[in-house]
Amino acid sequence: MNKILPFGRSCKAYLRLYGDCSPNVELSCSICNRTLHKHGRYYRSVSSKYDTVIIPIYRWLCQDCGITVSLLPDFLVPWARFVTWVREAAINRKLQGRSMQNIVLTVASPAVGISRSTVKRWWKHHLGKASSVSLWIAGQLVGSGLNNDLFELHPSPAASSPVHTAAWLQRLLS
Ligand SMILES: [Zn+2]
Repeated sequence: MNKILPFGRSCKAYLRLYGDCSPNVELSCSICNRTLHKHGRYYRSVSSKYDTVIIPIYRWLCQDCGITVSLLPDFLVPWARFVTWVREAAINRKLQGRSMQNIVLTVASPAVGISRSTVKRWWKHHLGKASSVSLWIAGQLVGSGLNNDLFELHPSPAASSPVHTAAWLQRLLS
């Protein structure tokens, strides 16, 4: 199981704070609610724009249920090699209409190396999420008393494709 908490603004900040010792947080078991105990750490590599570093991920254990919880810093999503802001930068450039070539060359340095297929996978994932997320956000905006016709912001309400929906989502967020 993974829990994601805000631990430092960057890999470097995270390493400075938690490179040698685990964060001092009190966690309780999601099953039995008892206090979890610190349970070692494992290491994984994380790539940001300019370099790839190895960071410790700390684990906690419920001695009653036997489940372990890994505490991930919020700049990572589970199993992702790249930090979240590199992924966001790639999606934003794609939304601006930049070419794959341009995106691959600008979101990460050659030393880190990011492939077109990785960016394509992120974009596909983003398009897959855009429709449910944009409808949810539109609902929140209307719920908070916004009277504008939000569909007016939609680039193509009548014949919408996932790419149109992603553009709509961006406009709703801006
Ligand atoms: Zn438990």
